[in-house]
Amino acid sequence: MAEVRVNLANHSYTIHIMAGIISQVGQLMKDMPLSRKALIVTDENVAPLYSGVLADSLAAAGFLPFVLVVPPGESSKSLATADKVFTQAISMGLDRKSPIIALGGGVIGDLSGFVAATYLRGVPFIQVPTTLLAQVDSSVGGKTAVNHPLGKNLIGAFYQPQLVVIDPLVLDTLPERELKAGLAEVVKYGVIADYDFFDYLIRHQEDILARRPDELIEVISRCCQIKAAVVAQDERETSLRMILNFGHTIGHAVEGVGGYSEYNHGEAVAIGMHGAALLSSSLHLCSTAASAAVKQLITGMGLPLTAPGYGTDELLGYLARDKKVVDSKVNWVLMQDVGRVTITQDVSEEHVRAVLSQLTENSNKH
Ligand code: ADP
Ligand code: ZN
Repeated sequence: MAEVRVNLANHSYTIHIMAGIISQVGQLMKDMPLSRKALIVTDENVAPLYSGVLADSLAAAGFLPFVLVVPPGESSKSLATADKVFTQAISMGLDRKSPIIALGGGVIGDLSGFVAATYLRGVPFIQVPTTLLAQVDSSVGGKTAVNHPLGKNLIGAFYQPQLVVIDPLVLDTLPERELKAGLAEVVKYGVIADYDFFDYLIRHQEDILARRPDELIEVISRCCQIKAAVVAQDERETSLRMILNFGHTIGHAVEGVGGYSEYNHGEAVAIGMHGAALLSSSLHLCSTAASAAVKQLITGMGLPLTAPGYGTDELLGYLARDKKVVDSKVNWVLMQDVGRVTITQDVSEEHVRAVLSQLTENSNKH
């Protein structure tokens, strides 16, 4: 079993990563100061696959689990769905020590975390992430939120889980496209922090795409370690934590221009990382070899490099609106080498335009 300790000021916790561990969640909860009633929140796709084994493991450890199933997809990250979870929590009489358990991808994690953060001003929160994206990204960092019709993630809180349990075997049922979306964030961790890990990804890309448990455990634990180290130094997202946004500046713009439907988050981040790599080499911050290596790994993971036909001006409009913009300047996370990034606002619009036009050329069919 791999374990990653997330050290934070007042609320440290452990991420347990092991094949088959979903059937041991109850056991792991046994020594925690929890009430017996537990609320498992999941979605309609995940419930038939894994809610039974999870609920059974809780029951075997003496808990009284209830499974609340919500529709899959981003539309469940809403105040209306949160209200349904609150209603369930109140009507089943959950108290301050009753755990809320998120079983699902990022949507379920964000929604349940938001409810756990605010119900009775905060109850124990446990995460059992079932997408690669949620396992490598959402299980560390403590960001919880729901969307508002006027914008995504506008209502939320920083709230840390008390326990995170990651079973790589649940990824067997994950649609291919969702797996690859998670791999975009995985590539990101290599680029921002760890040349050796990046090299590992190059050498093991086939095993990873074939979902071999040993390689998945290595990948998930490395990503969690890297993110935990960054977050421990910068819990509330000031400066250092910005490096986690590598590829996300252009990525968010691509998602926005595509109406959050054409490319999923991971695909948009892949395009954004390619853009950030091109920008870095065009500014001579890194070598062309370093930027080419990033491009090659993105392709190797089956992810897109470009968004053919997208409008450069429209993308630029989104860049200016990104919430990482301070004083109307974009904070660019750029590469100095594979494994090393820097943050700069010193990028001319001319350079950005040149990169965006490379990313959107119609001949760039991928
Ligand atoms: P994320 O933000 O992590 O990509 P979502 O919560 O939107 O996640 O999940 C993506 C999709 O994958 C949803 O339709 C969800 O129901 C489905 N899903 C999540 N985990 C699994 C799994 N282990 N097997 C099959 N489908 C899954
Ligand atoms: Zn992301």
